[in-house]
Amino acid sequence: MSMAKTVIIEENGGPEVLKLVDRPVGDPGTGEVRIRQHACGLNFIDVYQRTGLYKLALPHALGMEAAGVIEAVGEGVTHVRPGDRVAYASAPPGAYAQARVMPATQVCPLPDDISFETGAAMMLQGMTVEYLFHRTVPLKSGDTVLFHAAAGGVGLIACQWARALGITLIATAGTDEKCALALEHGAAHAINYRTDDFAARVRDLTDGRGVDVVMDSVGRDTFQGSIDSLRPVGMMISFGNASGPVPPVDLAVLAGKGSLQITRPTLFTHIADHARCQDMARRLCDMVVSGKVKVQIGARMPLDQVAEAHRQLEARATTGATVLIP
Ligand code: NDP
Repeated sequence: MSMAKTVIIEENGGPEVLKLVDRPVGDPGTGEVRIRQHACGLNFIDVYQRTGLYKLALPHALGMEAAGVIEAVGEGVTHVRPGDRVAYASAPPGAYAQARVMPATQVCPLPDDISFETGAAMMLQGMTVEYLFHRTVPLKSGDTVLFHAAAGGVGLIACQWARALGITLIATAGTDEKCALALEHGAAHAINYRTDDFAARVRDLTDGRGVDVVMDSVGRDTFQGSIDSLRPVGMMISFGNASGPVPPVDLAVLAGKGSLQITRPTLFTHIADHARCQDMARRLCDMVVSGKVKVQIGARMPLDQVAEAHRQLEARATTGATVLIP
């Protein structure tokens, strides 16, 4: 049995609870694969799991996304073979590691023209954009979407995806530099929501109508403004809580604001089904291979600097994706 450097937490807390330890990596059981990982993705969900906002039974390894090469497959695994290049976004956490054994269901083939770093940077954030734009609400060319934190990992992919579909994406971000980055990646407009009242700006930009859809992963700080930015019968997609969880919602508010719709989706519902997950990954790979989406890796850090990577993500100091090299 070989050993692999793996990041674990034994308690919830700040970045200092992240520990790099040697862990044994065994052989894959039925339905499992063993992967030698070349790059691991950093995601905001890792922060929620580290702090305890999303509960894990402790101690637990951390990380939800990586890319590498299949070393061995267990019984019943047919869609990947030893030697295949693969990438995944998947539970259970444990992706911050040199190697691991994990369920094969959400492990996806990685085309030769996508690097391991890009694979590790794109799977969780890119499949999220895939389901937001294709599986959550019917969206068509010409529709208008308000997208918060548009210079982040999910955000920069969303800007490019919207451009490819002919969707008018109004971006928000926390600095003028981040707004410029969102515009470069395909946003039609960008609002600095730390200096401007974004809901008022959205009304101006839409001639008073409001947007068809809001995609809000910031949560507590933006929720009310997001609701105020929608047209009647518009759809509020609340899919994250970077600023803190959204307080309970009074449904009557949705009536008063014009029969609004609301949903709180998660990637893990969408990828639970093997075939659907593989479809989502294929569409993402097509977008990347075709050049319609260029995955922006804002920072690359060795795995042993994972605590610093978490600090930067939480401090809003990152743009695009961060990858950890094991
Ligand atoms: P990002 O790279 O987008 O980083 C988060 C960004 O949120 C920050 O850079 C910052 O951008 C913004 N932000 C606003 N307020 C705060 C705050 N108080 N503290 C920290 N950040 C803040 O992260 P990811 O791309 O990994 O994820 C984006 C969001 O999408 C997260 O909320 C994540 O949980 C969610 N998500 C949800 C999924 C789902 O299926 N439900 C799947 C994947 C991601 P700025 O400075 O511009 O405000």
